[in-house]
Amino acid sequence: MKITGFRIGLLSARLRVPFKTALRTVNSVEDVVLELECSDGSTGRGEAPPTAAITGETTDSIIAVLRDHICPRLVGRDVADFQALCEEVQSALVGNSSAKAAADIALWDLYARSCALPVYKLLGGGVPLLVTDLTISVNEPEIMAKDAEYGVKCGYDVLKIKVGVDPGLDLARLKAVRGAAKDAKIRIDANQAWTPRQAVRLLGQMQDAGLDIELVEQPVKARDIEGLRYVTANSPVPVMADESVFTSQDALKLMQERAADLLNIKLMKCGGLTNALRIASAAEVYGVECMMGCMLEAKVSVTAAAHLACAKRIITRIDLDGPALCSEDPVNGGAVFDGREIRLPDAPGLGISGVNNIRYIV
Ligand code: MG
Repeated sequence: MKITGFRIGLLSARLRVPFKTALRTVNSVEDVVLELECSDGSTGRGEAPPTAAITGETTDSIIAVLRDHICPRLVGRDVADFQALCEEVQSALVGNSSAKAAADIALWDLYARSCALPVYKLLGGGVPLLVTDLTISVNEPEIMAKDAEYGVKCGYDVLKIKVGVDPGLDLARLKAVRGAAKDAKIRIDANQAWTPRQAVRLLGQMQDAGLDIELVEQPVKARDIEGLRYVTANSPVPVMADESVFTSQDALKLMQERAADLLNIKLMKCGGLTNALRIASAAEVYGVECMMGCMLEAKVSVTAAAHLACAKRIITRIDLDGPALCSEDPVNGGAVFDGREIRLPDAPGLGISGVNNIRYIV
């Protein structure tokens, strides 16, 4: 079964409401979709969102990297050479983790199809049902309270609250959210916005106020590992590394230095399922629990993330609400989102049968 060609297109999905974090505001998802075509007529699909604020990649850069650097190395090769092909993707050039993720996910889709297994079974199996949290954008406290109330009404029992824009308001934000969601588990994400001392002070105030915060994601700058370790050592709230952990080497360093209590794995940071598996395996060795996260992504790549999360027991927390934030779903098959529940089909590969409304570029 040989890879005979590839197509690259754009996929758009509108968001129900604008998505706001300490780093950016976004109104719609527009992702690059890669289709690898095979000699037996099967198609492997991958996806990459341009998240320049985090990975440095734009729509144009993802398309150029796939078209000029990665896909030409895959065409003509046999899918049975799966491991070598995955290494080709990672070694094609440095950086560009989201473009690599799109290609890596498409290869896993193809390889699992050739084995007639869903990806999660190829990864070791598991229960094909996940429960995701819901992200609440950073806003004025009253708006966030309303959003939290709506989330609880929709059945979500874990809320991920974005904070960090004007840190002076963060305590008020969390009090408002806790007032509106008394029984929900509340985790927060500062997206690098705080200084280490500010983080320890704010988190202490939140717990003193009885807000019962489950964990805090990325309180300080991505490269400030010393600062991250300071917060981890001194904060009453467990610390999860997100923007500080892209590669499996990053993950190892953070765990060795005890700079974080938890890790957030995202396919777009690490370059796809192959490297995400490496991070999960390292975390298993250290006994460090992980969250499966996503960028603002449509359902192709989030389905891939869901397959990994089902198969790895060290992934104990799920933050895969990208598709749930969209008002439309252009993907046929794949993960089924029903409120907080995500179910995977038993079909081979990712279980995706097609994608509507792709605007093909290549
Ligand atoms: Mg985060």
